[in-house]
Amino acid sequence: MSLDPYKTLGVDKKAKEEDIKKAYRKLARKYHPDLNPGDKVAESKFKELSEAYDILSDPAKKKEYDSLGEDEFYQRGFGGSGYKPPKFDSGDFPWADLFNDILGGGSRSSKSKGGFSFGEAFSFGKRKGQNREHVLNLDFRTAISGSEVTLDLDVPGPCPRCGGQGVVSAGGGVKGCPECHGRGSVNNRQTIKAHIPAGVKDGQTIRLKGMGFSGEGGGENGDLLLKVQVSPDEVFTRQGDHLYLERPVSVYLCLLGGSLEVPTLSGRANLKLPSGTQNGQTFRLKGYGVPAASSQKKAGDLYVTVKVTLPSKLSAEAKDLANRLAQAAPVE
Ligand SMILES: [Zn+2]
Repeated sequence: MSLDPYKTLGVDKKAKEEDIKKAYRKLARKYHPDLNPGDKVAESKFKELSEAYDILSDPAKKKEYDSLGEDEFYQRGFGGSGYKPPKFDSGDFPWADLFNDILGGGSRSSKSKGGFSFGEAFSFGKRKGQNREHVLNLDFRTAISGSEVTLDLDVPGPCPRCGGQGVVSAGGGVKGCPECHGRGSVNNRQTIKAHIPAGVKDGQTIRLKGMGFSGEGGGENGDLLLKVQVSPDEVFTRQGDHLYLERPVSVYLCLLGGSLEVPTLSGRANLKLPSGTQNGQTFRLKGYGVPAASSQKKAGDLYVTVKVTLPSKLSAEAKDLANRLAQAAPVE
């Protein structure tokens, strides 16, 4: 495609550098893709404006255009190779200061080397992929210990048909790739391994960057959001980093006091019950909860609630003893 840069910018052949710049700035602001999201007409208009400005802002190119005219300039300028418009999303673009103007100043300037990101300013059709969600069911203990899990998911990858180009050759020219519809990438069923950190909680989200749906036109992929669902455990319940359990304890151990063996995540621990332990009383085993995931954190605790069990059948002798105990240690 060739164009008349003077017509495109609406300036006279005798226009001064400053007037060309002014005309470009005014029109570029009007048609800038960031200010006209999704508007294809504005997008192509903006490309034309930028191409026109590329020619007229460069004295060597301007001179060549003026002496050759439009057709010659595009076909045989520059020693026969013809004029090539600037590639917007790569390399050095000469008018960084102008874009800072157009886009309202410094907001973009800190993002890339040289203070200007071409990919961002010229984000034609460049779209970040959607995030995708996946429910991750975890076993109670796996959630606590952390693990590597294996997931079968559709993940974006380069299109095998077009090699990620988005176009294929057809009849001496090119056409949009029928496999990926021009996106350059397709979703493939893949087995991915994800690291699940120790101590994840029910309802938590784990973000895997770039594992979501593929972006378009070279835009980055979305993220994969794993929504954690933790299945209950037969022994423990969990709140945050603390674990809870109930243990049946005989009335005699409660009355006399002694050692109670309780299950823990890693095995067993002994809990010392004082004489006179009450039904429903809760004891804490410090540090026996969810282990600390990092050295900055503290391990949780294990809370053991006592449920007193009583003998259900009493002999005459046992009743007699219970009577004597009731008199010796009355309960209010
Ligand atoms: Zn393709």
